[in-house]
Amino acid sequence: MASATIEKTAILSKYLDLDQRGAIIAEYVWIDGSGEMRSKGRTLSKKISSVDELPEWNFDGSSTGQAPGHDSDVYLRPVSFYPDPFRKGDNILVLAECWNNDGTPNKFNHRHEAAKLFEAHKSSEIWFGLEQEYTLFDESGKVYGWPQNGFPAPQGPYYCGVGTGKVYARDVIEAHYRACLYANITISGINAEVMPSQWEFQVGPCTGIEMGDQLWMGRYLLTRVAEEFGVKISLHPKPLQGDWNGAGCHTNVSTKEMRVPGGMKYIEDAIDKLGKRHIEHIKLYGADNDLRLTGRHETASATSFSYGVANRGASVRIPRSVAKEGYGYFEDRRPASNIDPYLVTGIICETVCGAIADADMTKEFERESD
Ligand code: ADP
Ligand code: MN
Ligand code: MN
Ligand code: MN
Repeated sequence: MASATIEKTAILSKYLDLDQRGAIIAEYVWIDGSGEMRSKGRTLSKKISSVDELPEWNFDGSSTGQAPGHDSDVYLRPVSFYPDPFRKGDNILVLAECWNNDGTPNKFNHRHEAAKLFEAHKSSEIWFGLEQEYTLFDESGKVYGWPQNGFPAPQGPYYCGVGTGKVYARDVIEAHYRACLYANITISGINAEVMPSQWEFQVGPCTGIEMGDQLWMGRYLLTRVAEEFGVKISLHPKPLQGDWNGAGCHTNVSTKEMRVPGGMKYIEDAIDKLGKRHIEHIKLYGADNDLRLTGRHETASATSFSYGVANRGASVRIPRSVAKEGYGYFEDRRPASNIDPYLVTGIICETVCGAIADADMTKEFERESD
């Protein structure tokens, strides 16, 4: 760190120690019109112990691509909150759904519709585990740590790599991991990926709607932590053309029946249903995903559905250990790194557990372009 930066940090730390006199800061976080996150802070008079205590709030949706200028107020309705690893103490991060002035969900609020499906299928106790892959860039737009001119050596030594030249930005990843644990995110692990400066964090298993909430908050923490290091996070599914792996968000799934002996029957039944709705699912599995699902670099083709035990070139993989034991979960390898997890977990619930009258995940997505 430059000495001016160190000096500034020392000055700031004086203020961070000041007594807040019982008040807390709540940083409200939401998803904007382009799949990025936004947040703003407000003072609350006392410590919060339940989400019902959190006030509704609003923002200028015309500045975020979420509302027209003549009717710009978008409402923020808190759905969950987390200990704030940046401000610490009793301060919190608040995840909020976006609602329009006329009482309808904002066009990028896919949580509301997905939540109806999970509520209707509560008895299935559907669990998810998401593997969020992402790529680091520096402020100049170059892949973080890559040589100024040219490329690093070809892929091979980087996946779970150890040692100088084989791993990049371990500090950013470590800070994010700790921040997630502090914030009560169910982060289950991290690993360096096949392409240098590409990483993954896993969140789960989480039940139903909680999966989307936790992944979005995990992404928020990642972006904030990276900001402190001057690093940019890209969720693009194919950040670089050529012989470099793309980035996905493998989605692991199980229902109550799949997790007990005899579960394989239910896993096979679910995969059969997924195969019949391949096109509908692919539409919700992230923009530019066709650049990634090429049939190369450990992916299946976007145009056809396949599955197999321990097969990382299939659309859906049954882990070897699951096949051996006869129960457990399956992995949908199709979703891209830039998915909205509410859309993906929602349509999986719809396909596997059954459609309901007042929710339709396919229409839900079309609403975005209204
Ligand atoms: P991979 O071998 O594909 O890289 P990872 O270890 O990265 O797998 O991720 C596996 C994910 O699956 C984790 O997020 C984990 O929490 C999740 N998971 C484990 N068991 C289940 C289950 N029964 N149902 C749903 N998700 C599960
Ligand atoms: Mn993984
Ligand atoms: Mn991976
Ligand atoms: Mn995986």
